[in-house]
Amino acid sequence: MTEKFIPITDYRNLNSVPVIPQVLEAPNGMLRDTLARPLHDLRISVTDHCNFRCVYCMPKEVFDKDYAFLPHSALLTFEEITRLAAIFVAHGVEKIRLTGGEPLLRKNIERLIGMLSSLRTPDGRELDLTLTTNGSLLAKKARLLRDAGLKRVTVSLDALDDAVFKRMNDVDFPVTDVLAGIDAAHQAGLGPIKINMVVKRGMNEQEILPMARHFKGSPYILRFIEYMDVGASNGWKMDEVIPSAEVMRRIDAELPLQQVAPNYQGETAGRWRYQDGGGEIGLISSVTQAFCHDCNRARLSTEGKIYTCLFAGSGHDFRALLRSNRSDHEISNAVAQIWRGRADRYSELRSANTSELPSATRKVEMSYIGG
Ligand code: SAM
Ligand code: SF4
Ligand code: SF4
Repeated sequence: MTEKFIPITDYRNLNSVPVIPQVLEAPNGMLRDTLARPLHDLRISVTDHCNFRCVYCMPKEVFDKDYAFLPHSALLTFEEITRLAAIFVAHGVEKIRLTGGEPLLRKNIERLIGMLSSLRTPDGRELDLTLTTNGSLLAKKARLLRDAGLKRVTVSLDALDDAVFKRMNDVDFPVTDVLAGIDAAHQAGLGPIKINMVVKRGMNEQEILPMARHFKGSPYILRFIEYMDVGASNGWKMDEVIPSAEVMRRIDAELPLQQVAPNYQGETAGRWRYQDGGGEIGLISSVTQAFCHDCNRARLSTEGKIYTCLFAGSGHDFRALLRSNRSDHEISNAVAQIWRGRADRYSELRSANTSELPSATRKVEMSYIGG
């Protein structure tokens, strides 16, 4: 029988309104936190709703008809999101990823994409504007997204076997529709497309090789993600994590691999290429080889809270600033103050001492903050 977890939404109330410093300064794109990490990526969650109920993210027992999703009035408007994003870009952000929940469920998402795609870095460059999706609506929307200015997409797909995939998305959604979405995105020019597979022991580990074989030699880069202890609703246990090293060994035994140098410093995925020239895969070892030392991401929740770590228990309420007549200059200084004070390194601490970390009952949910 499935264990019933208690829905915990009180992390939403654990926020502070950012303090505006007394002396204001102009952003110069050179922010560093207490560990000298720059601010480079912004992940924006545009909805906390989803049409899937992936067992590791939004288990049905918790995210049921009684779950308190955010009311529409709580959501940042597209204008508010774009205003904040522009402030982050002035501070050095060059990459924006839209996520959720399922971002393609947000009505008129292409309008937001159009607005964000007109932002430029301080030296006039276009942003790397991307989106992570479960692929269910991609076949219908790929062309629209591309025309609006989206550069590329990452699609989550946890299995090729229909029965396994349906067990994971828990809403009976067929694999073929996601594969059609991936092809539509490719046709629309939303590449290079990455495919994310979360590997959970006892659930989809038998799909590692079929997925590797299927995407080998294709235009798509398959990435294996270690199952993480985000939120407080998925009942995470360390023994359900398949370490990336094990995934690599299983693939290498049949399809020999060799390691490749990272594309850039701070790349989260370890790169491996097939020795026969069949392309490459990525291994994201968020649990067994934490990459906090290079983590340069801020996250904006659906209702306008900034989180400086995926595992944070509380956020900074920028919606309160946006809706209280604060100037861009003031908000920009609040961003700088928060980033300069950032010391987060949850995964490194967890890796060092998993069993002694306090059980985090109030961690923010992945569907709220965005993956
Ligand atoms: N709905 C979209 C999707 O599934 O691609 C975007 C949001 S989803 C929260 C973003 C990513 O987080 C997905 O690739 C998903 O597989 C991953 N994810 C969710 N829960 C996870 C967990 N517990 N451990 C590792 N990855 C997880
Ligand atoms: Fe929805 Fe994405 Fe979470 Fe799955 S991983 S439940 S598709 S938000
Ligand atoms: Fe970044 Fe927090 Fe993840 Fe470490 S645990 S990589 S600081 S989001």
